[in-house]
Amino acid sequence: MEIVFNKEKIKATKDSIKEDVPFYGEILDFYEKIFIIQEELKLSLSPDPLILNEENLSYPLIKRKRFNIDFDSAGKVLSEILKVVKSGNNTFGKFADMVENEILNDSMNFKNLINYILNADEEFITIADKIEVPNDTLYFFIYNSIKPFLEISSEQLSHYLKGEEYDGGFCPICGGHPYLSVFNENGERSLICEFCCHQWKAKRIFCPFCDSQDKDKLKYFYSESEEFHRVDLCDDCKRFIKCVDLRKLERSFYPPFEMLSTLHLDMKAKELGYKNSI
Ligand SMILES: [Zn+2]
Ligand SMILES: [Zn+2]
Repeated sequence: MEIVFNKEKIKATKDSIKEDVPFYGEILDFYEKIFIIQEELKLSLSPDPLILNEENLSYPLIKRKRFNIDFDSAGKVLSEILKVVKSGNNTFGKFADMVENEILNDSMNFKNLINYILNADEEFITIADKIEVPNDTLYFFIYNSIKPFLEISSEQLSHYLKGEEYDGGFCPICGGHPYLSVFNENGERSLICEFCCHQWKAKRIFCPFCDSQDKDKLKYFYSESEEFHRVDLCDDCKRFIKCVDLRKLERSFYPPFEMLSTLHLDMKAKELGYKNSI
């Protein structure tokens, strides 16, 4: 049965991760508030599903511009995220006012930015420069405002994949790279899309970035403190992906928290000369 990540469940998951890695307490507390905003909105959403021609399916199923985004609701999410950011003592704080004035209060700018993200349009960077907010900070605000809609659309579209044997390295729904690899309770591997969060079954031994299946080139290292986290490395393309082994995890699995509580593993992989997916 799928676990619903409501407010209580997110808090409980965060609390148990915090016990394992207290060092990440502040960042987990901050993101917990963002995740609650997103999950609560998801529980209230029921957009019209996208209809695809089943005779003519290919991977990825859609171009990202087809994702169903309700701009008004996305604006409300952005407003809530800005409140969280402004109430805390964090590095984004000084940019929240700029985003509020230039983006939230100018619906044309907001819609344009969403479309630039969906179309991977470099105009996004031009706007970021214009309002003097770092590109990745502006992306954090806008992407997190639309993420609930991407996830719901992606969930709706996933029924088109039922019975398919797709096991490639990019997201079969939106074409995104995976940001996390997972071993489930049966030891089967799946990958999670960095953009729409769809999770799909994958080959056990292969690099999702370059398709290498060369056992001599595919390596990994484990986290010293938590054996349920490991990092898969590819010597063909020098990329890495973090992996969570659910057979060894004794708490709830909420992928965005796993990403945050393993930032030390990204650092180690980068020190070893590997890059992440982006
Ligand atoms: Zn995707
Ligand atoms: Zn590779």
